[in-house]
Amino acid sequence: MSSNLEGKRAIVTGGSRGIGRAIALALASEGAEVLITYIGNDEAAAKTVADLKNASSSKASSLKGDVGNSEFAKEAAAWLKENFDGVDILVNNAGITNDGIFMRMKDESFDSVVQTNLNGAFYMMREIVPLMVKQRDGRIINISSVAGVKGNPGQANYSASKAGLIGLSLSASKELGVRNIRVNVVAPGFIKTDMTAKLSEKQLEQSEAAITLKRAGEAEDVAELVAFLASDKAAYITGQVIAVDGGLAI
Ligand code: NDP
Repeated sequence: MSSNLEGKRAIVTGGSRGIGRAIALALASEGAEVLITYIGNDEAAAKTVADLKNASSSKASSLKGDVGNSEFAKEAAAWLKENFDGVDILVNNAGITNDGIFMRMKDESFDSVVQTNLNGAFYMMREIVPLMVKQRDGRIINISSVAGVKGNPGQANYSASKAGLIGLSLSASKELGVRNIRVNVVAPGFIKTDMTAKLSEKQLEQSEAAITLKRAGEAEDVAELVAFLASDKAAYITGQVIAVDGGLAI
């Protein structure tokens, strides 16, 4: 077994399902101890924790709560301090969509998506970075989207949140470089998860036709890059936005 992340401690928000689950498993398989967070699906979280333990994260655990609530970030930081004695890797992955054309978009639809996808990542970074500063080492990977780089019709709220996440990450990378904390962004394209399972057969076909590789990606495709960015192999990479999209954005 490879051990790029032996002895490292990680938190993955929205780590119970989809891309977050694949990221948590990839980090654990490289030797990291992993805490996942989730909001509602207890069964999926319990299954992922069991799978993480099998993948050698013996202290794997889950924390339930809304990343859009700043109190939850404080709770997560306290958990990490108490149970992992710190944290090395933060992956802000939790995210939601609530699509619709922007002219008819309700305040609630715009605000809730931004609150979860952007404010949630900000709260986590603000509360967890102090633990990294103390040890003068940290790796933060924020999961944005091609929609945040290029925009997407029907996703003004989501695109705004994901573009905002890029701005947040780039500013943070400039503030934190001197403390040896790296901040990078991964921008997935069309990845097969519960989030994209909502699409009709026709939408799926149209999406795949627009992808250079002519197929949707797997959660593991994203997880491989995140595990690399979290490792010392990426020690000189910070402030980057890297697409995993089969060439969708080119
Ligand atoms: P899923 O819907 O499959 O999983 C979402 C995860 O986030 C679940 O673990 C869910 O918990 C958790 N979650 C949702 N809302 C909250 C919240 N408010 N607080 C805490 N946890 C929450 O999503 P994906 O795996 O598809 O997406 C993961 C990330 O990747 C998202 O940020 C998404 O925007 C991004 N992305 C996805 C793409 C895709 O094609 N799938 C493309 C580009 C980016 P629970 O299980 O309890 O519901």
